[in-house]
Amino acid sequence: MLLWATLFNLVATASRRLRRQSEENRRLALYDSLTGLPNRTLFLDRAEQAILAAKRQPAEVAVLILDIDRFKEINDTLGHGAGDFLLTQVEPRMRPVLREGDTIARFGADEFAVLLPQLDSTDTATSIARRLRRALDQPILVEDLPLAVEATVGIAVAPEHADSAELLVRRADVALHVAKAAKSGFEVYSPKIDAHSKPRLSLLGELRRGIADGELVLHYQPQLDAVTCRLQRVEALVRWAHPTRGLLLPAEFLPLAEQTRLIRPLTRWVIERALRDWRLWRDQGLDVAVGVNLSARSLGDEELPTELALLLAEAGAPPGTLTLELTESAVMADPFRAASILGRLSRMGVRLALDDFGTGYSSLAYLKRLPVDELKIDRSFVSHMGADTDDAAIVRSTVELARSLRLGTVAEGVETSEALATLRAFGCESVQGFLFARPLPAVEMGEWARHHAASAPLVGEATA
Ligand code: C2E
Ligand code: MG
Ligand code: MG
Repeated sequence: MLLWATLFNLVATASRRLRRQSEENRRLALYDSLTGLPNRTLFLDRAEQAILAAKRQPAEVAVLILDIDRFKEINDTLGHGAGDFLLTQVEPRMRPVLREGDTIARFGADEFAVLLPQLDSTDTATSIARRLRRALDQPILVEDLPLAVEATVGIAVAPEHADSAELLVRRADVALHVAKAAKSGFEVYSPKIDAHSKPRLSLLGELRRGIADGELVLHYQPQLDAVTCRLQRVEALVRWAHPTRGLLLPAEFLPLAEQTRLIRPLTRWVIERALRDWRLWRDQGLDVAVGVNLSARSLGDEELPTELALLLAEAGAPPGTLTLELTESAVMADPFRAASILGRLSRMGVRLALDDFGTGYSSLAYLKRLPVDELKIDRSFVSHMGADTDDAAIVRSTVELARSLRLGTVAEGVETSEALATLRAFGCESVQGFLFARPLPAVEMGEWARHHAASAPLVGEATA
């Protein structure tokens, strides 16, 4: 009897342990160990159930995928402990925004997913995405440091975008990538962005390779003194000699580079190559200043001034030979930050120009404080001066404004000798445009300059 009881106890304990073990295994298989949230497997299972249930209603089911911006930075600077703590704070922040039956899951490193199983419309999903982002945006104390967590969200809705959980998650993921690239905060999936995003992502990969393989080229366009037509400077304009698509213009690949970190190596390459060409021309007896365009992102690039000083020293170029062109809208997007980096660049002795001037709603107060040397009047005004009296008035008053602020003026897009004559009458100092030359490869630019030096006075007289 005693033997039976002992044996029974042993078996019962063992089976309890086994049951506990299997429950633990089940938990590990379905839940994330750090946050205790459902993992991808459980999420997909619940999403599948929700899609089936919604078919009977009928209702909609939304999947939101959330990715924490710059999580790696937080992890790297504050350490993994801080990173882990932050991840455990995500669910308590989001929960109050959601309903009881909604699921929050953790998919991986800094990726979370939300399942909204009973939805009346897609608009509700976007409004929840907005509220989730706002809830995370409230600072979280990590090691006494208040950190605002910014998140990007991709949204897909069943049955409109997919009728299986697997596909629904994939489509929310596509929307997430588009939102990240566009820095828009959140996006709803649409077949259009899907078709768009694949070639886009592959082009991005190709551009990274293209920069490394030396496929970028610079063309140069001359800028002349408006009165004497003497060559003052050449502007470097980047092109991509794509192996199968031919020569691509900046509009076809720069926005892509600007949305990613690729703009940095691209900008470095442009400056380095422009200074190298400057040196080649100078060695051939042609001493001409060069202009380089910077992107809006460069205004946040704290290392740029130091690297630029190094590149100038390597090329043996005095800083004044280089003009950096920044679009007016890039500068005005964040004038205070711009003023700080522009101040550093200007103190180095490089010249600064506000490009595409007239399109960026400058405030006069800021303009006075910015250390810029010249305004480049946008070609949309210059090329329509003849037909549009408003545009002519804008150009004239910009020239006057620049003069009273003691800034130089360059008119872009000068295509006709009538436009040149008008600009001279307004007192505009410099001109650039197809009337004189289209952007040319470096060697041809050198030849153009030599030929022009011999005939420049004629151009001036002929069009005066
Ligand atoms: P931007 O700096 O305003 O450059 C002038 C643009 O106007 C060039 O276009 C040039 O080809 C075009 N253009 C010049 N004269 C005329 C003319 O008489 N008529 C007309 N219709 N157009 C004229 P491109 O080369 O396509 O460059 C477009 C923009 O791309 C540039 O505008 C600049 O903002 C940007 N960009 C070019 N190269 C670089 C670069 O290396 N880095 C960065 N960040 N941006 C660049
Ligand atoms: Mg420019
Ligand atoms: Mg321009």
